[in-house]
Amino acid sequence: MGKILGIIGGGQLGMMIVEAAKKMPEHISKIIVLDPVPNCSASQVGAEQIIADFKDKNAIIELAKKSDIITYEIESGDSEVLKSVEKDSEINPSPETLKIIQDKFLQKSFLFQNSIPVPEFIQVKSILDLERGLEKFGYPSILKARRDAYDGRGNFKIDSPEQIQKAFDYFKEKNLMLEKFVPFKMEVSVIAARNTKGQIKTFPPVENIHEDSILRETIAPARISEKVAKKAENIAKTTMSVLNGAGIFGIEMFVTKNDEIVINEIAPRVHNSGHHTLQSSEISQFEQHLRAILGLDLGNTTLMHPTIMYNILGPKNFEGEYKPIEISGENIFLKMYGKKISKPLRKLGHFNLVGKQGETIEQLLEKLESLKDKVKITPA
Ligand code: ATP
Ligand code: MG
Repeated sequence: MGKILGIIGGGQLGMMIVEAAKKMPEHISKIIVLDPVPNCSASQVGAEQIIADFKDKNAIIELAKKSDIITYEIESGDSEVLKSVEKDSEINPSPETLKIIQDKFLQKSFLFQNSIPVPEFIQVKSILDLERGLEKFGYPSILKARRDAYDGRGNFKIDSPEQIQKAFDYFKEKNLMLEKFVPFKMEVSVIAARNTKGQIKTFPPVENIHEDSILRETIAPARISEKVAKKAENIAKTTMSVLNGAGIFGIEMFVTKNDEIVINEIAPRVHNSGHHTLQSSEISQFEQHLRAILGLDLGNTTLMHPTIMYNILGPKNFEGEYKPIEISGENIFLKMYGKKISKPLRKLGHFNLVGKQGETIEQLLEKLESLKDKVKITPA
């Protein structure tokens, strides 16, 4: 008999988990998502929905009572509440792991204690801590909110002493940390999976290009040497072996000018930079995640085709309904997330541009340029 799967969060990541789950009816018989937005993306593809805030204790209890197994697509869940419902439902990744990861300072401390390379960092509780940290790390450095940050919104780059007060005030009462700026030559990520039996697999490193602190493009595979790629995969594997809990983890890294790898951050969930796997690989990150939390053998992560993923974002100066996006062609795979309203830089969809036999990344990048205009969001 299949299990009832509960998902906290029903945005696009939840949506694509639901779509993968529906292809595994022998393992998953029903899906329920918890999301505050009525008719959320995941509910549009066949999940039942509990409409409530992600942190609503009663809603989480209800979800746990109704589900055999719970997972999440966001990392801001209340790990204490999740821990309290573990008797009603299996939760993967585990609330303890979520607790460490969702606080960037605890996460970096945990990695550092396990000898995994991270940028230098300190906790910041006062402006004095901040001044001391800046003396140590120099300029620029990055002040970060420890929790609930996404798309770069919890970061403040401090370029000079004049900005110290402004940066500190920007965060008001939030818990903070300061990090040394890494002059990286590339950002890469490794999508790693660990199943409940301890089996670990990683997808090859991909290259991530950000614009306005938001992921814009992912190039699979990353344009790095085999040696550097191996290094990144090994760091990802070591990380997975020290973290408890099962599921997909998106591990964001910097490649430095000397080809060293340091971890920027880990997401305890499927990751935007893994969307290419929907077409580039035998198994998608979403199916791999389900296999991991269900304790099934993990699938083959070999990259079959070079692929570029391009995010379709809401324009900066517009909020409202938008015209449907139409783009088609051989090896172009469009995925829209069913969001009616565009907002500045909101993730509305993506497409994967898959390389044909013998096609290089450079050729794909050229093709991509001619396609970007076709997915521009315009008012309805
Ligand atoms: P996400 O965009 O993944 O939701 P986030 O809001 O949690 O992330 P981070 O991943 O910490 O923020 O940072 C966003 C971006 O800022 C990084 O992808 C990187 O480009 C830049 N950045 C963060 N920390 C550093 C650092 N120590 N040195 C250099 N650049 C950094
Ligand atoms: Mg990040």
